[in-house]
Amino acid sequence: MTATRSDQTAPCFGYCRDCRTTHRVPSGEAPAHAHSLMREFEEIRRLDYRVPDDQADPKLGFDQLFPGDRGHMFGVLECRDDHGSTVVLRAFSSLRGGIRDIDGWVPPILSADSYYGIVLPGTEEIQRATRELESLAAKTPNASSLRRERTRLSQDLWRDMQSLYRFENFRGENRSLKDAFAHRPEGKQTIPAGVGECCAPKLLNHAARNALTPIGIAEFYWGAVDSSSTRKPGDFYSCCESRCQPILGFLLCGLNGV
Ligand SMILES: [Zn+2]
Ligand SMILES: [Zn+2]
Repeated sequence: MTATRSDQTAPCFGYCRDCRTTHRVPSGEAPAHAHSLMREFEEIRRLDYRVPDDQADPKLGFDQLFPGDRGHMFGVLECRDDHGSTVVLRAFSSLRGGIRDIDGWVPPILSADSYYGIVLPGTEEIQRATRELESLAAKTPNASSLRRERTRLSQDLWRDMQSLYRFENFRGENRSLKDAFAHRPEGKQTIPAGVGECCAPKLLNHAARNALTPIGIAEFYWGAVDSSSTRKPGDFYSCCESRCQPILGFLLCGLNGV
């Protein structure tokens, strides 16, 4: 089945191979919750909102996180819990510098064990090879073999990561990134880097793991005017096509009535 016009305008959707249909979440009241979050951002200008000013971590202040023309994507997911109460989850798309968990925000999809045990050491090894390469003359035999070694390290790490990322959906099914990613028949058969690091998958995965039913979602950009693209602070954006849509079909599966 092809996507209908309403699928195109829903903020969050993806084609599910199992049901052969497109699952989606509407905006609901999420934009209003997002506007409250923006007001909080304007006021406190940092992400560790649950601690008082004098305990704030300078690394989580907007001045350090988003200097110059930098900005970032944020998301809110409006949910219902088992008792019918509204729960609003918030997420930031993944930050640099190893910032993963901040109290009051949904956790990353990649577990701490996987990150600190495999992904971080693997990334550091690749970075070491890159630094070493920069210090060698480009055409020496040493440089060629180091370049091949770095490529192998990257490919190995990426293959591991595709198994280490685990997604859960609203049917209680659990799949690795490799198995959850729905390739388009006409599309490239490679999975892009960064899948699972945007707000929508983090929010939905957390909701599914905690028996929360999503009823509305909003993702917005915040920070400086993005010089490299057309994103504007405070504007809302749909789930991204390359990294999110191919896994959202699986992630949203089992979510009835939306
Ligand atoms: Zn995305
Ligand atoms: Zn489905």
